[in-house]
Amino acid sequence: MQFSELGLSADIQRAVAEQGYDTPTPIQQQAIPAVLAGHDLMATAQTGTGKTAGFTLPILQRLTAGANDRLSRVARTPRVLVLTPTRELAIQVEESVRTYGKHLPINSLAVFGGVGINPQIAGLRRGVDILVATPGRLLDHVQQKTVDLGSIEIFVLDEADRMLDMGFIRDIRKIIALLPKQRQNLLFSATFSPEIRELAGGLLHQPVSVDVAPRNTAAETVAQRVIECNREQKKDLLKHLFETRSLHQVLVFARTKHGADALARALDKAGIKAAAIHGDKSQGARTRVLGEFKEGKLAALVATDIAARGIDIDALPYVINYELPNVPEDYVHRIGRTGRAGMEGEAISLVCHDERPQLKDIEKLIKRNLERVVIEGFEPAAHAAPRPPQPPRGGRSAQPARAPAKAAKKPGGPQQHRSGSRHR
Ligand code: AMP
Repeated sequence: MQFSELGLSADIQRAVAEQGYDTPTPIQQQAIPAVLAGHDLMATAQTGTGKTAGFTLPILQRLTAGANDRLSRVARTPRVLVLTPTRELAIQVEESVRTYGKHLPINSLAVFGGVGINPQIAGLRRGVDILVATPGRLLDHVQQKTVDLGSIEIFVLDEADRMLDMGFIRDIRKIIALLPKQRQNLLFSATFSPEIRELAGGLLHQPVSVDVAPRNTAAETVAQRVIECNREQKKDLLKHLFETRSLHQVLVFARTKHGADALARALDKAGIKAAAIHGDKSQGARTRVLGEFKEGKLAALVATDIAARGIDIDALPYVINYELPNVPEDYVHRIGRTGRAGMEGEAISLVCHDERPQLKDIEKLIKRNLERVVIEGFEPAAHAAPRPPQPPRGGRSAQPARAPAKAAKKPGGPQQHRSGSRHR
């Protein structure tokens, strides 16, 4: 199928062609006609599937084609609201709106917290058709009466599962209550949990369901490998991989903010340009670091799970799990950052003895066994080195076994602290 078969206007098709895309991705093939026809949509799709264009393109068409006389233009107030969980995603969605809408008379704006509100107020005053927002800052604008949601015709909830994970449900409900009753609703979520089902039940009217990446199915274009190693050798092994494979533009996942900072520093010290991105960094620092990474100035970006949501980089070749995630679903999110939209990618997980239970959980979730590799000089010992005591592992949500490598080198030393939860 070609984009020309989807019934999009010439101006939109031109913008898509200028991006170099000629074939719509599966979600685009399914979502675009449904949204153009005015249906509500429930889409199970991860980042990397082309979902942003999947809703942006038909929305642009509906706003400009005047195809639906139910939709009436009220001057200067937003007609479309896209809610996203993170600032990064808000910025990226709004960039997509501008990219695909560049030949159309459409104004868009992203509003998110962590930056001054006044430029956003000025932007809203100038008039906005498509507003992309994070929930907290949007409610600030509502409270200050600097935004009017009374003319919203299309409401998009992007990465709804992550919104719920981040505790935004009350904000979302408040926002929905402010929208006109008659509107089109589009809900995107990587997973379809009972909570999402409940949210969808109250929000969507006879939705068309689109399920392109069934939950827990890792992209097939991603080669996934496990390198078995010792916990205390992980840093050296990572450096070794960078050096021997001349890796560049690698997204490295660490489990904690502290761990991400320490790892970025260690790589940098070894001459591998690296920076960390996580929730404690200011918005300015996050934007700058992401920019440098995209431009290829950094060989490694060390990220925590939350911070990595919404990082949108074309053709990211490698993801390395320096540590496995707490929750197996996060593994699927992580490796979804590579092998996007049909590109080939490689996801490497460094797995030590302590992490074997998590690896098992992941393999159960993705329904396949991952290839194990051992690197010469980094062969795992038959048994894990002793480590300080951990809080008990009780089911999936328990704190995983984790200990800083330094502590592990002191077998039999005084039992100083419960290192598993210190830097969270
Ligand atoms: P998303 O899932 O929206 O985060 O998009 C993933 C990536 O795929 C983005 O970098 C898009 O620019 C890219 N993309 C979107 N649609 C297409 C397409 N039809 N063909 C190739 N790449 C695309």
